[in-house]
Amino acid sequence: MNDVIDPPATLFVNGEWVSAAAGGAREIRCPADQSLVGAVAEAGVADAERAIAAARHAFDRGDWPRTPAGTRGDLLLVVAGRIRDRKEEFARAESLDTGKRLVESRIDMDDIANCLRYFGKLAGVEAGRLVDAGSPTVVSRISYEPVGVCGLITPWNYPLLQAAWKVAPALAAGNTFVLKPSELTPHTAMLLMDVLGEVGLPAGVANLVLGSGAVAGAPLAEHPDVDLVSFTGGLETGRRIAAAATGTVKKVALELGGKNPNVVFADADFDAAVDNALNAAFVHAGQVCSAGARLVVEESLHGRFVDELVRRAERIRMGGPFDEAAEIGPLISAAHRDKVTAYVQRGLAEGAVLRCGGTWGEGELAQGFFYAPTVLDGVRSGMSVVRDEGFGPVVTVETFTTEDEAVRIGNDTHYGLAAAVWTQDAGKAQRVAGRLRHGTVWINDFHPYLPQAEWGGFGQSGVGRELGPTGLAEYQEAKHIYHNIDPQVTGWFEGS
Ligand code: NAD
Repeated sequence: MNDVIDPPATLFVNGEWVSAAAGGAREIRCPADQSLVGAVAEAGVADAERAIAAARHAFDRGDWPRTPAGTRGDLLLVVAGRIRDRKEEFARAESLDTGKRLVESRIDMDDIANCLRYFGKLAGVEAGRLVDAGSPTVVSRISYEPVGVCGLITPWNYPLLQAAWKVAPALAAGNTFVLKPSELTPHTAMLLMDVLGEVGLPAGVANLVLGSGAVAGAPLAEHPDVDLVSFTGGLETGRRIAAAATGTVKKVALELGGKNPNVVFADADFDAAVDNALNAAFVHAGQVCSAGARLVVEESLHGRFVDELVRRAERIRMGGPFDEAAEIGPLISAAHRDKVTAYVQRGLAEGAVLRCGGTWGEGELAQGFFYAPTVLDGVRSGMSVVRDEGFGPVVTVETFTTEDEAVRIGNDTHYGLAAAVWTQDAGKAQRVAGRLRHGTVWINDFHPYLPQAEWGGFGQSGVGRELGPTGLAEYQEAKHIYHNIDPQVTGWFEGS
C-alpha cells in the first residue's frame, strides 16, 4: 500500500493530497500478523477545519449542488465502474487494514459498486412533487435540495462499505462532504478519493481527513459549517456525537451497534439453521453490527442444536487474509481482543457455560489478534454477555417454549438493529417477524441486505436509515415553493 500515494500526503482536501499541518503520521499494521501496511497522515483539528472550509466553499460555490441530479448520478456510475476495474487492489487494501479474508473483501467491493450504482440511478428519479394549494392561480411544489456540508464518520469493520453507504447518497443529493474513516483502516478511503479525484468531481466536494476520532473526528460533529453529521460506530461514541451536534443543531444520523437475536423454532430446517447460526455469529470474527450473537432456540431443540453448533464451531479455521483455507480472520487490534476476552470472562463469572472457544490463536497465529469461535450456553436475560454488544466471535444461547416467549426474549434488548426467525411455518414466521422490534428481520436466512432496502435500527441501534430511498432522503432538505401567480391586495391592514 505504501506505493499508492506518498505516505505523509494522505489527506485529501480541496482536490489535492496534503500532509497534516503539524506533520503527524500513524503506522497502520495488519491485525493478522502486525506487519506494516503503510504510514498515513494523522490529522489535527486544524486539518479537519481546513477540510470543512474546503467543503463549505465548494458547497457555497454551488457548481455541484446545481449540477443536474441525473448528471450527478452518472458520475456515481463511473465511480462504480472504476472500483470494479480496480477491485483486486481495493480488496487487498481492505484485507491488509482489517485482516479480513480476501474473499470477503472482494464481496464488499462488489457491494460497494452496487451501492454506488443504486444511488447513481436513484439520483435523478424524484424531481419533487406538486401540491394542490386549492387555487388555480397558485403553483405549489416541493423540491428536494442538498443539506449542505456533511461530516461522515465511519468504523473499521466494513471500512469502505460503510463509507459508500454515506458518500453515495451524499453526492447523489448534491452535498459536499468530509469523510473521517476509522484511524485503524484508512487505506480504502484513500483509494476512493483517488477515484473521485479522477472522475471530474469539482475540487472541495469530496474531502478526507485521517486520524483519531477525538481529534480529527470531533470537529465534524461540533463545527458550525457542517450541516449534517452521519456516524456509524459504537453506542458510546454515538451518544458523544449526538451531544456534540446539539450545539449547532445540525442534522444527525446514527448507525450504532446491535445485539441481534437469531430465533430458531423446533420445526426449522435443522441443517440450514445450524449452518446459518455459525455464519450469523462468526463471519468476520463476529465484528459485524448485525451479528447473530444471541441465539434463541426452542427448548425441545436445544441439546441437539447446540451440540452440532459446537461441533462445527470447533472446526472453524482461523487464518490471515490471504490464507485460502481460513474461514475467519483476526480481531482488529490487541485492545479489541482484550475487550472480547474480558467480555467472555465476565459472562463466565456470571454463570455462562463455556461450550467451546474462549482462547487466543496460537503458533503461527500468535502474532495476530485471533480469538477462537466461542459458544456460551446457559445464559439468562440481564447477564452482560446477553445485554452488551461483544463484537467478537462469541454467541450466547437462550431457550424458549412458546411463540410469545420467543418474541419477548427477542425484544429484550435496548438495541434493535436486526433479528432472524427460523421456522418452516410461514404463518408463524410472519407473526414473529411482525412483532420483533428490529430494523431488519430475516426469515430463514441471516445477513443479506440490499442497497434498495432501508438499513438501520430501532431503539438505541440508531437514528435514521441508510440505503433505500430513505437513505437518499437523509441527505436532502424538502423545500416548499409557493408561487402566487395572481397576487391580490389583502386589505388586512388600515391605509391600504
Ligand atoms: P467507534 O465508535 O469506536 O468509532 C467509529 C468512528 O468514530 C471512528 O472513525 C472513530 O475514529 C470515530 N470517533 C471516535 N470518537 C469520536 C468522537 N468523539 N468524535 C467523532 N468521531 C469519533 O466504533 P468502531 O469500534 O470503529 O466500530 C465498531 C462499532 O460500529 C460497533 O459498535 C458496531 O456495531 C458499529 N457498527 C454499526 C453499523 C450499523 O450499520 N449499525 C455498521 C458497522 C459498525
